[in-house]
Amino acid sequence: MSTDVHMLSGAYALDALDPAEAEQFTQHLETCPVCAHEVQELRRAAARLGAVQAVVPPPSLRANVLAAAVRTRQAPPMVTPLPAGSWTRQWPTAWPPPAVAR
Ligand SMILES: [Zn+2]
Repeated sequence: MSTDVHMLSGAYALDALDPAEAEQFTQHLETCPVCAHEVQELRRAAARLGAVQAVVPPPSLRANVLAAAVRTRQAPPMVTPLPAGSWTRQWPTAWPPPAVAR
């Protein structure tokens, strides 16, 4: 097994390891409480996902979402101020830029 053994908890929880890897990881679980806890949590999550039932959305959902998208104003871009002296502050603020004497 060339992969870091701690990275196999997800595959182990889903019984997706080959038998040799599964045996090695089982031994690892006896000494690693972090992985043991992670496997326990992943198995609980997998069990919950298995119990989920698909629900057919009401026919009006698509039209309602699209209508809400039309009414919703787009959020302005989040702009992070550039630090003083960055290259954009060196561009001229008026056009055309002043002539450079040669
Ligand atoms: Zn571990």
